[in-house]
Amino acid sequence: MSQIRDSLIVLAWGAVLCTGAACGGERADAAGREAAATGAASEFDGAAALEAVQAQVAFGARVPGTEAHARAADWLEAELRRRADTVIVQRWTHTTADGRSLPMRNILARFRPTEARRVLYLAHWDSRPVADSDPDPAKRRAPVLGANDGGSGVAILLGVAEALARRAPEVGVDLLLVDGEDYGDFETNTDVLIGSRYFAERLPEPGYAPLFGVLWDMVGDEAPVFEQEAHSVRGAPEVVQRVWSTAQRLGHGAVFTNRSGLAITDDHVPLLAKGLRVIDVIDLDYPWHHTVADTPDRVSQQTLQLVGDVAVALIRELTATPR
Ligand SMILES: [Zn+2]
Repeated sequence: MSQIRDSLIVLAWGAVLCTGAACGGERADAAGREAAATGAASEFDGAAALEAVQAQVAFGARVPGTEAHARAADWLEAELRRRADTVIVQRWTHTTADGRSLPMRNILARFRPTEARRVLYLAHWDSRPVADSDPDPAKRRAPVLGANDGGSGVAILLGVAEALARRAPEVGVDLLLVDGEDYGDFETNTDVLIGSRYFAERLPEPGYAPLFGVLWDMVGDEAPVFEQEAHSVRGAPEVVQRVWSTAQRLGHGAVFTNRSGLAITDDHVPLLAKGLRVIDVIDLDYPWHHTVADTPDRVSQQTLQLVGDVAVALIRELTATPR
């Protein structure tokens, strides 16, 4: 997602607003320990989520057109088929601006597919072909392994799927893995957000309108801080309010800060443009963003746990009929 320039601006903000290690991450860990101490059971398995990050990266960089990409998609599809009521796969070929043909796959896992009251969660499952933000110029043509950028959001969705397989939701839930988010050039808006754009034009049914949707992107940093992303605040303020207040109720107010964030070009944008109420939960302040060092050792199990707990709680708050 987004431009390198955005990420640098966010880093500057972080330097101003956080002093040293005493940023959100530490407080998040403290909240997690508190939950463990009080014996609050979690439906979301953070350890399994970290394993899901490792499993994705083990395929290699999931760059469209590569063998690793195809094999990872097969694996993700199988993982979701084991857990969801139905899985819909959108397969197509995307022709890039420079004439290359890329095999694309969106995977939609549905729980209670006929229920009108629904929640939509999405994450991109591809990884970037070039580590163009790497500090070492020699590495900038290597692909990104995408442990956090791609892998973490997918891990949240797989973990939510597992929780819902164990105990069905009262409402419908759609878990959407989109392809080709990170392929091309964000500066010129070329060959990026490929899967979310495709999905926005081919929604699962006429009048498809989830109550709310959340894009989970870059959600595994060891010191997470989620600012309120500007397209989300402008396009679906009530969803920002809902997600942030649930996170705060769970004790994660330091991580889900009320600070305003930048506008980020990400997969929620094509869906907002179609009228869907979808926001972006994203932490761009990740030192290894679009570098070859975006590896599983730089993804935190505690952070995945925290985000997964929020994701599950948002679904459990909903009842079959409006309260
Ligand atoms: Zn990216």
